[in-house]
Amino acid sequence: SPSRSSVIIVGAGISGIAAAKVLVQLGIEDVVILEASDRIGGRIRKENFGSVSVELGAGWIAGVGGKESNPVWELAAQSNLRTCFSDYSNARYNIYDRSGKIFPSGIAADSYKKAVDSAIQKLKNEEANCVDDSSKTMDPPSTPKTPIELAIDFILHDFEMAEVEPISTYVDFGEREFLVADERGYDYLLYKMAEDFLFTYEGRILDSRLKLNKVVREIQHTRSGVAVITEDGCLYEANYVILSVSIGVLQSDLIAFNPPLPRWKSEAIEKCDVMVYTKIFLKFPHKFWPSGPEKEFFIYAHERRGYYTFWQDMDSAYPGSNILVVTLTNGESKRVEAQSDEETLKEAMGVLRDMFGPNIPDATDILVPRWWNNRFQRGSYSNYPIVSNVQVVDDIKAPIGRIFFTGEHTSAKFNGYVHGGYLSGIDTSKALLEEMRKEKERKSESQSLL
Ligand code: FAD
Repeated sequence: SPSRSSVIIVGAGISGIAAAKVLVQLGIEDVVILEASDRIGGRIRKENFGSVSVELGAGWIAGVGGKESNPVWELAAQSNLRTCFSDYSNARYNIYDRSGKIFPSGIAADSYKKAVDSAIQKLKNEEANCVDDSSKTMDPPSTPKTPIELAIDFILHDFEMAEVEPISTYVDFGEREFLVADERGYDYLLYKMAEDFLFTYEGRILDSRLKLNKVVREIQHTRSGVAVITEDGCLYEANYVILSVSIGVLQSDLIAFNPPLPRWKSEAIEKCDVMVYTKIFLKFPHKFWPSGPEKEFFIYAHERRGYYTFWQDMDSAYPGSNILVVTLTNGESKRVEAQSDEETLKEAMGVLRDMFGPNIPDATDILVPRWWNNRFQRGSYSNYPIVSNVQVVDDIKAPIGRIFFTGEHTSAKFNGYVHGGYLSGIDTSKALLEEMRKEKERKSESQSLL
């Protein structure tokens, strides 16, 4: 029979690593971390592309410069991570139509204001619907129709909801965002955290408590303990398990629970939307797009919403790299994941030729991350419906016996962000330590009765 550890942590993303660190540093040293992939980091992931290190997952430290300090910003400072300030506010003045003309700034500003007003109106209507206050007459929000309206609607809803409603990240930590542009990668932060409590040697984690390539497929749980079974047929036993897999994985059937999760739990898990967010990287022989401080972001207005809309010039973060990034979301992400990269390259080049003319050079390389089809992710991040009750997050987070839940999707305030994952890991481990303390108390009480 395998040796039994105190806690098994499933997943070595930022929440799992943060959770493990808290446990070990507070005295629970016999933890086991089971990670399905061959690396730590999860949705924080770098890859070499066009001679620089690009971030396929999280790219920004969002929420900087406010009254409270963002803990991820602090970690970055401790590690001397190289970051660049991102200013999106000019994107709306760099909107191209299909003939390559930039919309005059007055028109762009007007459309933007109209879209913000309409989004606020829509939110109010939904809130009113929620309390079922049918006595109020509601103004119908206008629906975006023209390419510029569609483009702005896409930017607003898929990127900049902060313009419409207060978002805790920006309220608490500040409104600035910094792009991580460091050759060591965003995941260097995770490595630095791991270094504090796992055995490392020459930049590698060599601690047997971290087990890579271990795909958890079943969690058996009873009143007295948990047994975790991996795809390669290994069995791990523990007193508790912390499950840090994404909301998309929880919605899939990758992990079987025995006995099954109660109905209220699986219903809550189903209620959370999964956002798919895809950054497509394109490498060029030289730069043909305008660049400079107010040109980092530009927008393509097409009659199809979200069709290669949002572009970023990576040259400001990596001078001389000649890399552009175009971001797709949800339906467009899934569509592109299902086709060949050559097909995607052709589409992207068509869009760029609309904007910059027929004579621009072809990209020499393309990188298309596939977060939706990755069975260890099933999406990019959680996206709770704006008008949703807090009960859903609480239910998703609530422990089931000896199974504790963590991850960005369990953070009511900061879900969807790196700092949400980080803080949730700390939070879950503290809750578990409290439970362990209570269990010990119960045991010693029953023993003293004997
Ligand atoms: P994860 O990082 O997903 O960790 C869970 C781990 O569990 C993974 O390593 C996974 O491999 C593992 N796992 C899954 N199934 C199993 C199994 N069955 N057995 C064992 N292990 C398993 N946030 C920001 O703050 N700023 C950004 O700019 C930003 N941009 C993003 C862009 C993209 C494209 C994506 C995908 C995410 C972005 N995010 C951003 C969100 C941020 O990356 C996440 O919120 C955060 O990294 C989640 O951490 P986590 O620990 O909760 O989950």
